Amino acid sequence: MNDLYKRRINYLRISVTDLCNLRCVYCMPAEGVQKMKHQDLLSFEEIVRLVTIFARIGVKKIRLTGGEPLVRKGIEELVAMIQSVQGIEEITLTTNGQLLEDKAVLLKKKGLTRVNVSLDTLDPEKYRKITRLGESAPVLKGIEAAFKAELTPVKINTVVMKGINDDEIFDFAAMAVEKGLSWRFIEFMPLGGVGEEQKHYYMSNDILIERLKKKYDLVPYPHKTLISDDYVIPGTKAVLGFISPLSHKFCSRCNRVRMTADGRLLPCLLSSLEYPLRKMIRSGATDEEIQKRIEEAIKNKPKEHLFQGFKPMHTIGG
Ligand code: SAM
Ligand code: SF4
Repeated sequence: MNDLYKRRINYLRISVTDLCNLRCVYCMPAEGVQKMKHQDLLSFEEIVRLVTIFARIGVKKIRLTGGEPLVRKGIEELVAMIQSVQGIEEITLTTNGQLLEDKAVLLKKKGLTRVNVSLDTLDPEKYRKITRLGESAPVLKGIEAAFKAELTPVKINTVVMKGINDDEIFDFAAMAVEKGLSWRFIEFMPLGGVGEEQKHYYMSNDILIERLKKKYDLVPYPHKTLISDDYVIPGTKAVLGFISPLSHKFCSRCNRVRMTADGRLLPCLLSSLEYPLRKMIRSGATDEEIQKRIEEAIKNKPKEHLFQGFKPMHTIGG
């Protein structure tokens, strides 16, 4: 369906857990976060019921995210359940890649279309510092496994942080060229859960594009609905994408809404507006009643973000 500003909302991002096996400095505090109560998480059946209602009003694409979606037990079964919902054409997943190597084949078999893998550095030491808990080797293996399982195109997400990993952008571009990857540079957003020290990490993607253009011929690859400004490097399969929520608001092209793991529908990533659906589901609401509430949320999707709300990223899934 369309919202009030004629944006077609056809994409739902679902956070399937608030838990994560990493503690990235830009996303979670070092000590972790207070866990949601298990009974507050939407069950797979509840998620699929909501997906079915969303599909009825025109949602075609689902992304599973988190927290870390691959730590949710039985995630492959959820993929299979969503795959059988009429109208859903694409199921994707955003992961830190730690558990991807072992799960890639089964995820593909159950109906996952492709993956985005988050990787902010190619330096193992730096990876440990950024994620506080992880090793980069399993992520690289996970990327290879995703390729082999044909979860393609594999897209890499990198949050670029001034003075931390902005010196690696040419290495990322070189790897994108070598492996035919789509590499997406995401502007750091100082959201809830981020400490004072990290708030200085922000840098505009404009600076990265300017730097990369000195080495590469970046040819714009026009999109109408997507939020990433993409460039191809002629003669290669690499695509460099720039997601710039702060320097270049893409709100007019936004086609998505988000569901938290405990069933709150968020019409906008950067707004405090939310529609709790879990209570409705568990108090016997009919599909029609839930659909009405969803339609109301979509109608109320803000025209653009005012950078309010500041929910921690691990609760909303990026
Ligand atoms: N755990 C999975 C992962 O890391 O890919 C999925 C959830 S994570 C919240 C989704 C995406 O949000 C990741 O690509 C991550 O880099 C990005 N992200 C998290 N915090 C961010 C922040 N403060 N600014 C920009 N992107 C952020
Ligand atoms: Fe976990 Fe992803 Fe947040 Fe990193 S960005 S702490 S991997 S949820």
